[in-house]
Amino acid sequence: MSGRTEACVRPAADGEQPLEKAKGLNPGTPTASSPPAASQCPFLAGMGGVGVAAAAEAGAEPAAAARQGAAPDADAPAPAVCPLGFGSSAQGPRLGQFHCLLCKSLFFDCVVTSCGHRYCAGCIRDARDCPACGADITSLAPDPQTQELVERYIEVHAGSSTIWELEGPPGAAQKVEGMAGERSRASFLLQLGLRAIATGNTGSARHRFQACQRQLQQQLAAVQQQTSGGGSVLPEVAVIQCRLGAVSGCLGDCCRAEGDADGTLRHYQCSVELLRAAGDDPEAQQALSVSLNKVGELRHMQGELEAAAELYAQALQLRRGLLAATQLQREAQQQAQQQAQQQEDSGPEAREPAAAARAAADREAACCSAALDLAASCIKLAGARRELGGDAEAQELLVEAQGLLARLEAGLAGQPPLLQRKHASLAEYVGAMMAAPQP
Ligand SMILES: [Zn+2]
Ligand SMILES: [Zn+2]
Repeated sequence: MSGRTEACVRPAADGEQPLEKAKGLNPGTPTASSPPAASQCPFLAGMGGVGVAAAAEAGAEPAAAARQGAAPDADAPAPAVCPLGFGSSAQGPRLGQFHCLLCKSLFFDCVVTSCGHRYCAGCIRDARDCPACGADITSLAPDPQTQELVERYIEVHAGSSTIWELEGPPGAAQKVEGMAGERSRASFLLQLGLRAIATGNTGSARHRFQACQRQLQQQLAAVQQQTSGGGSVLPEVAVIQCRLGAVSGCLGDCCRAEGDADGTLRHYQCSVELLRAAGDDPEAQQALSVSLNKVGELRHMQGELEAAAELYAQALQLRRGLLAATQLQREAQQQAQQQAQQQEDSGPEAREPAAAARAAADREAACCSAALDLAASCIKLAGARRELGGDAEAQELLVEAQGLLARLEAGLAGQPPLLQRKHASLAEYVGAMMAAPQP
């Protein structure tokens, strides 16, 4: 296998991290339904008084515990303080009492250190000093009570938009407001998993991804039951399949991080099947191209070059289509915007130049991203073709990649930093490959 390591090297800036690509579950367009009242904490409602007491016992909210102890006024109603800060989002997103300092996700397999700080077992396992207080860690004890509260929190809060203010990326709360509870819960679980895997806690990540998968499978079953006897694949079914495919890919990433080759392949292949079944939606196709490349990389590592090249080629084909579609969309939107502008110039209503500029920047970034994905695919396939002895084809692909990158050069300064870095890395890689002696 050692002779193959060279073959497995791929551009670091390929950008195919699960974080960026598993966007099938990101909060989407809000649907009409009433958001939960922010002042009412369903966690407390579900737990009765036990929530606060148990949380205080677990050391989760010392302030709340102190308040309860210091104010024994029997007539006064118990303050409606959520042990997890639910409803106190005026302070903005923050790490709550049940967050692990190390993975920034909610505890998984919670343990308490000798100094009394809590972490995920998987996160703190190798640490000698407590990251919170610096004390030597002489013992770690499981804390099932706290873990149970965390699970309860997820169960009760995950369907609400308020949790996104605390947990989600900026602006996510508005997007999930009104989102159906199950959908929001699946997205939330995915976010927890992505955070955990980004910091290397694969045990936590896998647990959350699996919960997300179960949630989606239930949704799928419910939709299929509702529409049994219906004709073709419904859009709703396709959307859920697309998300399930993305989650399978994330589970594959967990296995890969743990060095489990069989599990990785199984999940990636499952992801490919689900995404193929999801139809020709651009989001599904984009995710499919990523999964095809991942299966291809595994085949490549196992020395199955022909199979790898075939998979890379399929991904490349999809990305050609995606780039063309993105560019067409950009033109259509540009025209629509120009027309709107002409009408408004002569009318009394003031335009919104900021919003228009933002939309234009988003369009450019989408095109740039699609072109970079395609260039990465060209490079990947070129590497495999070269190893197979098809040097003319490899050269053609490298020229294609170079052309794509050169065309992006002019507008690059206005693009997001991530895309700029990716461009630089791909350009360097393609240059090195073209200069490298043929094997
Ligand atoms: Zn952790
Ligand atoms: Zn400590």
